[in-house]
Amino acid sequence: MRFLSIGECMAELAPSGDPGHFRMGFAGDTFNTVWYLRALRPDIHGAYYTAIGMDTISDKLLEEMDAIGIDTSWISRRPDRTIGLYLIELLNGERSFSYWRNSSAAKCLADEKAALIKAVAAADIIYFSGITLAILEPYARDSLLDTIREAHEFGKTVAFDPNLRPGLWPDTKTMKKTVMRGAEMSNIVLPSFEDEAFHFGDIDPAATIERYVSAGADRVIVKNGPHPVAFFHQGNRDTVPVSQIANVVDTTAAGDSFNAGYLAELDRDIPQQEMIAAASRVAAKVIQSHGALVQL
Ligand code: ADP
Repeated sequence: MRFLSIGECMAELAPSGDPGHFRMGFAGDTFNTVWYLRALRPDIHGAYYTAIGMDTISDKLLEEMDAIGIDTSWISRRPDRTIGLYLIELLNGERSFSYWRNSSAAKCLADEKAALIKAVAAADIIYFSGITLAILEPYARDSLLDTIREAHEFGKTVAFDPNLRPGLWPDTKTMKKTVMRGAEMSNIVLPSFEDEAFHFGDIDPAATIERYVSAGADRVIVKNGPHPVAFFHQGNRDTVPVSQIANVVDTTAAGDSFNAGYLAELDRDIPQQEMIAAASRVAAKVIQSHGALVQL
């Protein structure tokens, strides 16, 4: 199984515990998912598709990916740009985020259409998110969606996390319209109920399922924090409880690691309930430690 994740990875500056000092790492929704997939299934080929700069921080990101065996051969390098950055600050115990990503290289990830087509053709599973779409200019978004649509029509498996982030979109109407376009060409849609309810007005996870099934998805897995995961698969609708965690430390990357846990089971012939239970065990570990990337 060859997995290709498409999106943006940023440098992260997180409080180190020593006031005024920060620790640097790398994170981003689609990157987190391929990172966890590699951790869970080193036997699966996992590639990341993005664009980065030619500076030392971009070199460091490449080194980090190479070190954990993520295939970086599709990553393009731009002399005029660098990777995005975000800073986490603790204000009265609450995490607050500041972003510097407007001119990040990843905004150009879909500019090299021929390379994109090649990368997608070499994969069995293509994974992208609403954030991947949000950071692109409209022409680049169309180009990426056209490539993914063709791959889907060709019989590749496409997995999509809507990851609704209104702040990254020009307006919520464009966000909702484009996310539904993404779902149309996806076999597997992995939304989070809280965001979907807020932006689409879904009254319950079943409504989220129906909306994405109507768009054309074969499987819809609706995450819902500590509440049961609702799913649709081959005409069946059911829910799977998640493990109860007494000590939730940091929910960063809960959804991203859940997606990796689910996709890591795709090539195993096991029931949906077991795939979802495996995915929520991964997320349960992640939310009991600090940071987006937790050693499993
Ligand atoms: P996202 O991070 O995309 O908002 P969710 O918050 O819905 O996603 O969480 C994704 C998964 O992480 C859930 O389906 C569940 O398995 C696990 N999870 C998140 N929060 C909790 C919690 N408080 N207790 C137990 N599991 C949780």
